[in-house]
Amino acid sequence: MATRVNLDLHDELKAFGGKDLDLCYNCGTCTAVCSLADEGSAFPRRIMHLIQVGATERLKHSVEPWLCYYCGDCSAQCPRGANPGEAMMATRRHLISRYDWTGLSRRLYLSNAWNITAVLLVMLSVVGLFAFLHGPVVLDHVALNTFAPVHWIELGDLVMGGVLSFFLLTNAARMATWILGDVGMPAIPISAFVRAIPEFVVNFATQKRWRRCGTAQGEAKQNRRWLTHLILVSGYLTMFVLIVFFLKWFQTDAVYPIYNPQRWIGYYAAAALLYGTVVFAIGRWRKRDEIDKFSAGTDWMFLILLFLTTLTGLLVNFFRLAGWPLATYSVYVLHLAIDAAWLIVQVPFGKWSHFLYRPFALYLVKVRELAEKAAAADAEEAPAAA
Ligand code: SF4
Ligand code: SF4
Repeated sequence: MATRVNLDLHDELKAFGGKDLDLCYNCGTCTAVCSLADEGSAFPRRIMHLIQVGATERLKHSVEPWLCYYCGDCSAQCPRGANPGEAMMATRRHLISRYDWTGLSRRLYLSNAWNITAVLLVMLSVVGLFAFLHGPVVLDHVALNTFAPVHWIELGDLVMGGVLSFFLLTNAARMATWILGDVGMPAIPISAFVRAIPEFVVNFATQKRWRRCGTAQGEAKQNRRWLTHLILVSGYLTMFVLIVFFLKWFQTDAVYPIYNPQRWIGYYAAAALLYGTVVFAIGRWRKRDEIDKFSAGTDWMFLILLFLTTLTGLLVNFFRLAGWPLATYSVYVLHLAIDAAWLIVQVPFGKWSHFLYRPFALYLVKVRELAEKAAAADAEEAPAAA
């Protein structure tokens, strides 16, 4: 790997939020207190050092920023107030902007104006589409599937899912190429990629490593935070499954009885999303914990759009049950506009991408570990065969 020095790296990371990293004198206290760091991955100190010396290529190949969950233990103990936890967060934002080949992530992270404009553009496009393409407006009763035929919405979901997956997967492929292309990596057998898949699935669904850090600030508090996050994730995964696989059952003009799972599964997802977004927004507003002290525009946008998507979804349901056609149709369009803005702007380019990149990084660590084990086993067998 070429060792290039980028004298602007330091300033770049500051723009992404690592405002105090100048103060670091590399004492290593942060690594000593981080319960997720070990001998093989001495973060956050190593990352602080790479930033300070402008080692832009080495930073690009680093997996360590993704092993940090921003619990803030290191920042609380840093004798210089260099805020290494925030520097790790800033590094993740910087890395996301490098994985993203379109350049949009970079603009969204560095400019609130870009954030707001992108969201408004998507919303106006959805409203514009509905203005021209909606079905008949029935006013004597609620006929949502006449106004917005479910097969059209399904088709829109599929197209959007395909486009979003394309951006996410191509960005993730760049990440994998860089992390696995680090110096000294042995050749990777296909079996390593397959055997590491459970690592991705478990960490994506549970973020279980998060429970191991932040305990210096109180184990109960950390567990509460992890649980809130789990509830939020369960909410949008449930909603995702309902909308992608069961839309015909979920978006219906028939009113199911109160005990029908169609109602309760939807209400659970909505309650989980409202609870999670409100708790995290209050935390960011109060700024009492290290993790909440510094928020980028896209962090706020993520929470606000997710909250509004859920709220408008609930309102559509209540207006439908109340039998108010015009209110149902108009809030439904607003709901889809906000939802599309959240999906298109946040999922591949903004805050949400963390949820893919972090478990994916753990998957890549596992792949690397399995490849190293296979290489060591081959090396042991070679002299015996000779
Ligand atoms: S960030 Fe703070 S604790 Fe970590 S090496 Fe620098 S000065 Fe030491
Ligand atoms: S924020 Fe927590 S997980 Fe991240 S480096 Fe600091 S102590 Fe470790």
